[in-house]
Amino acid sequence: MRVFVSVDMEGVAGIVDWEQCRAPGTAYEEGRRLLVAEVNAAIDGALAGGATDILVNDAHSVMRNLPPGELHGRASYLAGSHKPLYMMEGLDDSFGAVLYVGYHGSMGSAGVLSHTYNPRAVHQVRIGGTVAGESGLNALVAAAYGVPVVLVTGDQTVGPEAAPFCPGIEAVQVKRAVSRFAAESLHPDRACELVRDGAERAVAKAADTEAPSFGDEVVVEVDWRTADQATMAAWVGGSVEGRTTTITGRDPLAVYQTFVTQVLLTRGVAE
Ligand SMILES: [Zn+2]
Repeated sequence: MRVFVSVDMEGVAGIVDWEQCRAPGTAYEEGRRLLVAEVNAAIDGALAGGATDILVNDAHSVMRNLPPGELHGRASYLAGSHKPLYMMEGLDDSFGAVLYVGYHGSMGSAGVLSHTYNPRAVHQVRIGGTVAGESGLNALVAAAYGVPVVLVTGDQTVGPEAAPFCPGIEAVQVKRAVSRFAAESLHPDRACELVRDGAERAVAKAADTEAPSFGDEVVVEVDWRTADQATMAAWVGGSVEGRTTTITGRDPLAVYQTFVTQVLLTRGVAE
């Protein structure tokens, strides 16, 4: 079975500050070490659970955070910017499972380093009326290809946020957010043990896990921080009212692509 790993960074045990997530610097180097250890734990677990082939898509910031030669399991590494499917680039219907590693809560959640794609622009996203973090948004791509999302790792907020969109998802909590910039983390070795075991369990039951489904019509509402951002976002599709845009469509992939294009576009709007 082919397994797709979407790797973020803010949800990794020991990470509590943007400095650990942004190059350059010693804090970032420390963050990368913690990150690659958890990714490798997930790869080891996936292999034990029946994976035969693994693709790691780097989904954080500049999207080249991992030392390529350090990935276990001879996993392929999809890195770098300008990826049309962004955090889910590389996924297609040849895969049997998606793993989310190092994920974080949505903007507005009680999670550490919480945000939804862009903390400077996106205030809240709802899919079908339910608040969605990146786990829910990225599930649109998994739904399009019919691939179950079987694992999410991060703080205590990521499991409950993913659950409404990813049936049967296994959640591994590696830290407890105390505030947006404080968390109590497991020791990295313990965190890796839990990630490994969770990945093994999740991949082993992937064939019996349903892919996300959004019904006949997907409705994604985005509350932007400013009306300017909302107006600009709607240039590429959807309707706008005040600070809220609404994207509606039958194809979850097209809806996702409109959303990520909106996010890219709004990076250019002054706050
Ligand atoms: Zn990130």
